[in-house]
Amino acid sequence: MREPALISVEDVGKVFPMTHSLLRYMRGMPQLSVNALNGVSFDIHRGETVGIVGESGCGKSTLARCLVRLHDCDSGQIRFEGKDIAALEGTARRQFNRRVQMIFQDPYSSLNPRMRVRQILGEALSVHRMRPKAAIPTRIAELLDIVRLPSDAADKFPHEFSGGQRQRIGIARALAVEPEVLVADELVSALDVSVQAQVVNLLLRLQEELGLTVVFVAHDLRLVRHISHRVVVMYLGRVVEIGPTERIFSAPAHPYTQALLAAAPEMDPRRRNTAPAARGELPSPLNLPPGCAFSTRCPLATDRCRAERPALRATENGHMAACHLVDTHAVTA
Ligand code: SF4
Repeated sequence: MREPALISVEDVGKVFPMTHSLLRYMRGMPQLSVNALNGVSFDIHRGETVGIVGESGCGKSTLARCLVRLHDCDSGQIRFEGKDIAALEGTARRQFNRRVQMIFQDPYSSLNPRMRVRQILGEALSVHRMRPKAAIPTRIAELLDIVRLPSDAADKFPHEFSGGQRQRIGIARALAVEPEVLVADELVSALDVSVQAQVVNLLLRLQEELGLTVVFVAHDLRLVRHISHRVVVMYLGRVVEIGPTERIFSAPAHPYTQALLAAAPEMDPRRRNTAPAARGELPSPLNLPPGCAFSTRCPLATDRCRAERPALRATENGHMAACHLVDTHAVTA
């Protein structure tokens, strides 16, 4: 029997209120708000890599921030080893903060430019008292070796490194506190394509060698396929398809996933596809469509789609998709 989920995301909602404009206020109109997450539920198991994909604005980065408690959920809850992370306090909260680490998207801004790498890593080791003071230099050398940076990197400042090397420093800083979960939000999207694969392969190796659980948030399907055991596809703050990576890539059931795959660029630049991810514009998260959120862009939309929101249900391939057509026949947009 499979062991219980390490992390359970249960019906999570997150709303960001907009600034109340004077005009709306004077007209007595309600304050607008962005529904970034709308009832997101899925499990993450120990030792697996879960890829979260979707267009910009689908809520994946908000979800990543909720997973590490940079945002608190407005509804639902996230459980870590069965405990609601919003209720953790004191030592339990500090332990959670150590065990679940986020690696940020932008290696240029997430490292203090006035600190040498030795200080950056030493600070991470000291905050959680990971090593006695005398053992810190040895641990810093180990961490640099783990992320394949030369030992003399310890005496340099972040600006002396390339983007890919800076991202390796960010990974070493996260590993300094010996986490069990890494949440990587668009880890390589700021890097050159040639460097992206190196950093992703590093993460893959670390996941295997250290038995890490990884949440890999990205809009690039190629990278997600390469690294993830399971994939969660999000659209306008909801999960529209979830399942084992190869099943989703070989037999996507949701028309949105099919559109994303059709538009995914090839590794070979000569075969790059410039098709949009889906026809039409992403609807405003200020005003979500009724029924299926994808109905304004879906070539298969029916009246039922525009009126009734589809629940996630099992496909014939054994994964889950939120589409009214999943029950009736294989969807091919
Ligand atoms: Fe398209 Fe309808 Fe399925 Fe939504 S429920 S994805 S609109 S076919």
